[in-house]
Amino acid sequence: MREYCVGVNLPPSVRLENLDGYLRTIEENGFNACELNLSTYPFMMGGNLIPCVAEYVREIFAGHPLTYTAHGAYGLDLRNPDKWELRKKVLFASIDLCSSLGCTLLNIHNEEDSKKSSVERLFRTVVKDAAEYAKERGVSLVLENIEIENVYRTIDMVESIDHDNLGMNLDLGHLFLSSQYYGYDYLKAVTDSLPRLRHLHIHDNMGEFEAMRLTDFNMYKTLDKKERMVFSSGDMHTAPFWGKAPLQEAIKAIKHSGYQGVWLCEYYSDLFAPFNTQICQSVRNCIEQA
Ligand SMILES: [Zn+2]
Repeated sequence: MREYCVGVNLPPSVRLENLDGYLRTIEENGFNACELNLSTYPFMMGGNLIPCVAEYVREIFAGHPLTYTAHGAYGLDLRNPDKWELRKKVLFASIDLCSSLGCTLLNIHNEEDSKKSSVERLFRTVVKDAAEYAKERGVSLVLENIEIENVYRTIDMVESIDHDNLGMNLDLGHLFLSSQYYGYDYLKAVTDSLPRLRHLHIHDNMGEFEAMRLTDFNMYKTLDKKERMVFSSGDMHTAPFWGKAPLQEAIKAIKHSGYQGVWLCEYYSDLFAPFNTQICQSVRNCIEQA
């Protein structure tokens, strides 16, 4: 058993019938963990779980010696009051799903501040209730910083909810963009997040914020990610150490804090297939030599 659990996210392009083979590739690349976005497969409809899909994936997961974590489905914005009861239902169903798949952790985004105290109250309450619900099912809940907000909003949110089953997921790529855009110290922010740190997303970018992410998110989502890489635009999720984020220094600070979680590389690994073994090894070397 390797000392550090280095993982990678499952690309959404992996079809259900190819999952078993792809997990084998992930293992062969040297990774020990895999993160599944819960909207990758038809696990639920209208917030109701579809047991045969969960069972199918659970069996495949069980056939590989990997640690599994989960990312909340795309669109699970718990600060959006539209269809609120349905969002809440999806959140709690996601926790049940993690429990049945054997995912140890569920990551959700700390979305953009609503500027409305009623919405903020609702968000805080539902996250705290979910942390308790997840605890009873052996699943950790973590809140992730996104690139359009100052990271201290997420740190403060986790601290103020103050539940023993709620931690911080520090996304180092998002942090780089945010620190460049809002003008604060990257490494100090890493250090300040350490007391609540329970999960990590490691990926890279060029530190160039894409304004459209703030002005027109729906249009931003339609931009081609490969084109964004060509023009270094925004949250590229390129491979660790292929961009400009000071990942080495961050990894050093995190390692020396005694961090015991998964070192999850969250990049478009399907675009980098011939290099994934080398990318995994470079992250592992960085941790070991830090
Ligand atoms: Zn992330």
